[in-house]
Amino acid sequence: MSKTGVFICKKCSLTLTNPLVKLSNLDSLNDNDKEDLIQTGNYFVSNGEFYTDAKGKIIINKKDLKNFKYHPDSTRLNGCCGLDGLDGLNITCKNGHEIGTEYSDCWIPHCIILEPELIRIKA
Ligand SMILES: [Zn+2]
Ligand SMILES: [Zn+2]
Repeated sequence: MSKTGVFICKKCSLTLTNPLVKLSNLDSLNDNDKEDLIQTGNYFVSNGEFYTDAKGKIIINKKDLKNFKYHPDSTRLNGCCGLDGLDGLNITCKNGHEIGTEYSDCWIPHCIILEPELIRIKA
């Protein structure tokens, strides 16, 4: 996988993110609840440390995500004040293809987790 580029939807090739650079080390991550886990302009591949079942998936800041909408299945959009991401993928591309999960509730660090098998990186 290329280290720099934009992520696109595998099904329709729609651009999903700003240009992102892979973090070379994880020291800058912020795991405080209700704050952004990763700064804008970067992504990293999860080592499984921060979210359940995230190992190997791509983690970005929500501000870098574009051309997306929320999942039409509202049972995936649970949370107390944001989205807790516990009920399956809750983000699709603008054309309705599932791409990942938003985590934006008050008791977790905030981020978007993209599914590696549903997206591609374009250098
Ligand atoms: Zn798509
Ligand atoms: Zn909450």
